[in-house]
Amino acid sequence: MTLSIDSDCINCDMCEPECPNKAITMGLAIYEIDPARCTECEGHYPEPQCVNACPIDCISQGEVESKETLLARFAALWG
Ligand code: SF4
Ligand code: SF4
Repeated sequence: MTLSIDSDCINCDMCEPECPNKAITMGLAIYEIDPARCTECEGHYPEPQCVNACPIDCISQGEVESKETLLARFAALWG
């Protein structure tokens, strides 16, 4: 678990195209982040792009993962 979208999401579609890992998809009611694909943007960008894109700040940090864990996920996705 890294970042997650809370129930305030208004489905504005701003975050989905910004994710370099295709971790964001539309769920049953709101957008969701796949924790198996989210690297907090490690490997691509210095900051989480979805957080920067969200106009209502409804994406928050979940369980903190180490940089090594995030980069290992990046390598598994894109290696
Ligand atoms: S932090 Fe980056 S990798 Fe994770 S969901 Fe947001 S844009 Fe995608
Ligand atoms: S940018 Fe924020 S409000 Fe818009 S779809 Fe993504 S999480 Fe929801």
